[in-house]
Amino acid sequence: MTRAAKQSGEFDRIARYFAPLAASHAGAFGLTDDAAVITPAPGTELVVTTDTIVAGVHYIGDEPPELIAAKLLRVNLSDLAAMGATPRAYTLNVALPSDIDDRWLEAFAGGLAEDQARFEVTLIGGDSVGTPGPVVLSLTAYGEVPASGAVRRSAATPGDTVFVSGTIGDGALGLRAVRGELSGISETHTAALIARYRKPEPRLGLLARLAPEMALAAADVSDGLVADLGHIADASDVAMVIRADDIPLSTAARAVLDRDPEALAMILSGGDDYELVFCAPHADSDVVEAIAKECDVPVTAIGKVEKGPGVRVIRADGSGITLGRTGFTHG
Ligand SMILES: [Mg+2]
Repeated sequence: MTRAAKQSGEFDRIARYFAPLAASHAGAFGLTDDAAVITPAPGTELVVTTDTIVAGVHYIGDEPPELIAAKLLRVNLSDLAAMGATPRAYTLNVALPSDIDDRWLEAFAGGLAEDQARFEVTLIGGDSVGTPGPVVLSLTAYGEVPASGAVRRSAATPGDTVFVSGTIGDGALGLRAVRGELSGISETHTAALIARYRKPEPRLGLLARLAPEMALAAADVSDGLVADLGHIADASDVAMVIRADDIPLSTAARAVLDRDPEALAMILSGGDDYELVFCAPHADSDVVEAIAKECDVPVTAIGKVEKGPGVRVIRADGSGITLGRTGFTHG
C-alpha cells in the first residue's frame, strides 16, 4: 500500500468508526480539527489518567473486540472513580496491524459506543496508525472534580476505617479461568469470574459523593488488594490491618476458596478487580454506608488504619497471614 493510500485508509477509518463517537462533544469538532477543547465546569479541575494495552501482553488477543474496548475504557474510568472524579471525555490512540479488519473495528467502536452511553463520556480525539507489530491501544480519560477536591492516596490517618467496594478476587480468578487453570467449580461460577475479569465495573459516583463530606484516601484495586492498600499506606505514611475473613467475596470466589484454601493468596494479591479501596474516618462510617446505599455500591469495612508502615492481613483469631511473592505463609 502506498503511503498516500495508507493515509487515506486511516482517515476513512477515523471518519467511519471514531468520528461518530465524538459527535456529542462540541469541542471535539467532529475529529476534523488539530485538537479538541474541553471546558471544565466553573469551580472544577480536570483529572487525567491514561492506560496502554498490547495484544498478547495485557490481553490474549482473541477476545471479542467490544469487550477489549469496554475494558480499556473501564480501567481508565476506574482510576477517575478512585480520584472522586466524574468522567467527561477521552482520547484514544490505536496502532493496528494489517489483519485488523472492518468487522473488528466496527465491534470495537460498538463496545465504546455502548459504554459511552452508559458512563456519559465521549471520545474527543486520538490517532490511528498502522503497525507491523501487535495491536496497541492507548486511552486517556479526562474527569472533573471540584477544585482541590481530588481524592488522593496520601490522606489516610490512624483510626480510619478501611472500606472496599463490591467483591475482591474475581478479576484474578477470572484470569485463571480464562487460561483454563481453574477447575472444580460450576460453569456458572466460571462464567461469572470470566465476566468480571473481562468487563469490570468502574465504581463511579461513590467517592465523588463522599469526598465533600469527609477526608478520604483511596485507590482502585488494579494491582491487587494488598498491593493497592500498600500504595495508600506508603503515600499516607501509615499501616493497614486487614481482616481476611471480612473481605467480601462473590459466591463464585467463595466456591473456589472452599475447594482450595490456598486461593486466598490470589484473592488478596491478584489484581484486575477495579473495585475501590478507601480509608474514611471511623466516626463517618454510618455516612459512608448510607451514601454507598444511595449510590447502589456495596461497601464493606475490612480493616483499620494504624501507626507504622505496611499492610498486615490477620485472621479472626488474630494470627497473621504473610504474603510472599508466590503465595502466602501463616504466621
Ligand atoms: Mg489506579
